[in-house]
Amino acid sequence: MNKKTVAFSKDSSNLFFHLLTKCNLSCKHCYINKKEHGENTLDIETIKRWLNLFSEKCNTINVIFLGGEPTLHPDLSLAVKEAGRLGFKSITIDTNGYLFHDILHRVTPDEVDFISFSLDGATPATNDVIRGKGCHEQVVKGVKKAVAEGFSTSMIYTVSGDNIHELHRMPELVKGWGLERFFIQVIGIRGESADTNNDLQVSMEQWLNVVPGVAEAMARQGIIVTYPRVFLDETEPFQCAGIVADNYFIFPNGRIYRCPLCEDFPLHSFTIDGNAIVPTGKINETDLFDLTIPEGCVMNKMIQPGNITYKSDGTPLKRIACCMLKEEMSPINV
Ligand code: SF4
Ligand code: SF4
Repeated sequence: MNKKTVAFSKDSSNLFFHLLTKCNLSCKHCYINKKEHGENTLDIETIKRWLNLFSEKCNTINVIFLGGEPTLHPDLSLAVKEAGRLGFKSITIDTNGYLFHDILHRVTPDEVDFISFSLDGATPATNDVIRGKGCHEQVVKGVKKAVAEGFSTSMIYTVSGDNIHELHRMPELVKGWGLERFFIQVIGIRGESADTNNDLQVSMEQWLNVVPGVAEAMARQGIIVTYPRVFLDETEPFQCAGIVADNYFIFPNGRIYRCPLCEDFPLHSFTIDGNAIVPTGKINETDLFDLTIPEGCVMNKMIQPGNITYKSDGTPLKRIACCMLKEEMSPINV
């Protein structure tokens, strides 16, 4: 089988760098929480300084610039160039497709490993209800333009109760676009989603019936597909990435989280203070990472238990994996 679970590793880290929280869209499931993440836009000198804080091991770190909408940042191109100068392992820009500030002409395909587009529906009818009117068209145009300019592109589809019914249409939709990678994400109940209700979450049955099959269909188009493991089999070990991996989620108010599910709370592991990364006092997310519960991930149980099914004896049918545990499917030759 061309499918593998991507093991956590301390040797390969990801730095999710939120340059700003401002955005031109107001997606229904936006995970940004301005109360916790601030509203400021980092100036380029601060961005460079913060990137330099990771310079010692940056050849093992993938940096992902995001927001808000990172292309709204007038100096995103300079941030990319600084990350390149420092020698980060890879550089990605996550965008909602609007590609502000002529970003495709201010960085080159040699400077950016991936431009990653978010699309949450195969049709405008579904996507635009979630992400905003006109957004579907903008993403389609954006991907095609980026590919034509020579950039490597990827796409992120965040699965929820609002759009799982269209996931199976995605392989046909993206045929011929030139996408290299397709990421299926699962909705997190945080930010805006936490203020609505839990019917955004999909059940284990829905997930397992739809997602692996679509991943395979996408892989048959020559695209690498990544999707979260979510439900662990009985024999699989549970591991918390907060302990066994090395991921950093930086926000423009200087908070650094190790776990994305903690981002709605002041539970960050570190704060950036001047030129130093300072550990925060108790209680923070690191106090949760080694707790062992029958349901698997502690934070999942606390903030989004709608995906847990219990047997009649009260034990969970499946443990929920760390949200960062992924399956990767390589292209299938047909
Ligand atoms: S999910 Fe992304 S594109 Fe949508 S409002 Fe939030 S930051 Fe903007
Ligand atoms: S999602 Fe759960 S398992 Fe993963 S880092 Fe967070 S608390 Fe740990």
